[in-house]
Amino acid sequence: MSSYGMIIDLNKCSGCYNCFLACRDEHYGNDFPPIALAQPFKNHFWMQIIERERGKYPKVKLSFIPKPCMHCDDAPCTQSTANGSVYKRPDGVVIIDPEKSRGQKEILSSCPHRVIFWNDEKNIPQKCTLCAHLLDQGWKEPRCAEACPTGALLFGDLDDPASEISKVWKSQKVETLHPEFELQPRVKYIGIPKRFVAGTVYFKDRDECAENARVTLTGKGKKQTVRTDNFGDFEFEDLAADGDFTVKVEHSGYAPQSFKVQTKLDVYLGDILLKRSSKK
Ligand code: SF4
Ligand code: SF4
Repeated sequence: MSSYGMIIDLNKCSGCYNCFLACRDEHYGNDFPPIALAQPFKNHFWMQIIERERGKYPKVKLSFIPKPCMHCDDAPCTQSTANGSVYKRPDGVVIIDPEKSRGQKEILSSCPHRVIFWNDEKNIPQKCTLCAHLLDQGWKEPRCAEACPTGALLFGDLDDPASEISKVWKSQKVETLHPEFELQPRVKYIGIPKRFVAGTVYFKDRDECAENARVTLTGKGKKQTVRTDNFGDFEFEDLAADGDFTVKVEHSGYAPQSFKVQTKLDVYLGDILLKRSSKK
């Protein structure tokens, strides 16, 4: 018996919406009993694409977070009904039975991830099924994973140590979208956006970008050093939210500068002008 999961690598996601469209193509207008009935035309996002804007002009970053049902192992949705209308299959897929769940709108509020949608016409709650109807026919991955042109959606058998997903799960920094819910999701992520600190360094006397300046960030028990590129830009990514850090900028022949920063939000220090050192 397989044990299915998915890893979504946000560093590879370009926000093309192919996964969303593939899901629509598979499920809109198509019934797959007893797994799911057809998705309605409007207001259902079994694969949502969350767009997260970070920073502010002129340093802005846009991240895309594809978000299906997490197929949690400790899923509160499966506890939310008396008649077992939401259940976990032995392969880990969480299914809402389209017959048994009829009229049970309260199932929507059982999911803290908010990935269950109401079908007014059919009077049923619906969500991502991991395309279980296809897996049951021998498909190796669901439609959304198959449609992703960058390979950002990696699907597979977590119980098979030789599967690609098992190797990535073990070898890379795989994260949970909302660890605070403590639901043991089977959909995990790589590259969930954190905070960044960035800036642009210039030589004041030469009115030029300061390439190869040494920039050191310290704080939260960490010390990282980077060099500015040929535009004088530097950046520290993947920083904890709400941390206190010090950024020190140095270049030989110029007076060093230090800045205190707080990462409640992303930080762009703007233009940093290095002045000639007075030391001989
Ligand atoms: S994400 Fe929500 S709907 Fe999906 S299994 Fe977890 S609790 Fe249930
Ligand atoms: S696994 Fe299937 S149902 Fe779930 S989001 Fe992908 S295409 Fe849609």
